[in-house]
Amino acid sequence: MEASQDTEFLITALKTVKYPGYSRDIVSFGLVRNVTFKDGRASVVISLTAKDDTVPAKIKADVEKALSLLTGVKQVAVFVDAAKPETAEANGEGKTMPPALRHVKAVLAVASGKGGVGKSTVAANLACAFENVFEKRGRPAPSVGLLDCDIYGPSIPMMMGVKGQPEIVDTLIQPLEGYGVKVMSLGFLLDEQTPVLWRGAMVNKAIQQFLTQVEWGNLEVLVIDLPPGTGDAQITLSQTIPLTGAVIVTTPQAVASSVALRGAKLFEKINVPILGVVENMSFIETADGERDHLFGEGGGAETANALGTEFLGQIPLSGDLRRTGDEGKPIVLADPASSSAKIFTEVAEHLADVLAARASMNGTAEKSDDAAQS
Ligand code: ADP
Repeated sequence: MEASQDTEFLITALKTVKYPGYSRDIVSFGLVRNVTFKDGRASVVISLTAKDDTVPAKIKADVEKALSLLTGVKQVAVFVDAAKPETAEANGEGKTMPPALRHVKAVLAVASGKGGVGKSTVAANLACAFENVFEKRGRPAPSVGLLDCDIYGPSIPMMMGVKGQPEIVDTLIQPLEGYGVKVMSLGFLLDEQTPVLWRGAMVNKAIQQFLTQVEWGNLEVLVIDLPPGTGDAQITLSQTIPLTGAVIVTTPQAVASSVALRGAKLFEKINVPILGVVENMSFIETADGERDHLFGEGGGAETANALGTEFLGQIPLSGDLRRTGDEGKPIVLADPASSSAKIFTEVAEHLADVLAARASMNGTAEKSDDAAQS
């Protein structure tokens, strides 16, 4: 995004452009790719998969209209990269879900550019928050799965308080359960002594097995905790199943967000919609209600802007958040009134709506309430 001026005002305008036939906008659907602004010229790349031929032209026209109305914009260039579902190979779209995932309505990857930014913490808390959200919406429990593909530090079993060896029934691996969430992790299969090199060699096989041979059952969403960076896991995943979308976790520092951006670009390349950015460790809340921005400011918002996606929220740096994770009960459940828990819940509510609408758009679920309202 070098040499581009601030694009936030363009993204705000893009959020007014609805996907034809839906009440949701193209930014929250993760369709906006590159947004640049230089010398009065706004350029936007939109990437989408649509069965209906009229959708790309309609979106292009609506984007041109929305941007050309803005003060300071003299020229608008919109490129729509549209694929048919059957030809959009890269993100497994057009491929059917493996039988083990047939009844999983949406698959959400949680990713980060580097380790230690709190990706697993976000994945575990989002999974628990989703379970609460779907329970409130009357979906039968368990409605959420959590798949830990982070081979280098499978911390999900600890964070979800789940131990043990999964059983195999009729050739299918049975996920374990923690707080009503179905959990599967490489951590159940490897011990801490397993050499990292050997883990790397088995990651593809293991991920494929988790997607094709685990009895996930009926789920509203399967949350996948990916290893950091842009490795084999991301590629294997996107080649095996159609991912509904990805959420990027970053910290506020500029360095972290540039690394996050590199990681996120991989998802763009393989045609996975980026549904938003969560900034973790954003600030410390002091006793008098002030915010101390220990690690700097702005990384999450900058990353979201650069990716043309939503900035979903800021999670504070909190001893309770770390402690509850270490003790095996995510803060969403251990202290629902805490500010972190509230943000995770808001993010889960928002993503639940977006995932339902996207699933209906791709024909992988019944039409949701969100459909056909424009
Ligand atoms: P990653 O999956 O990105 O490697 P983790 O989720 O494993 O990161 O988090 C790394 C460590 O930081 C863990 O000990 C976790 O409890 C802690 N941590 C994560 N987010 C926060 C936060 N907002 N406040 C305090 N500690 C956190």
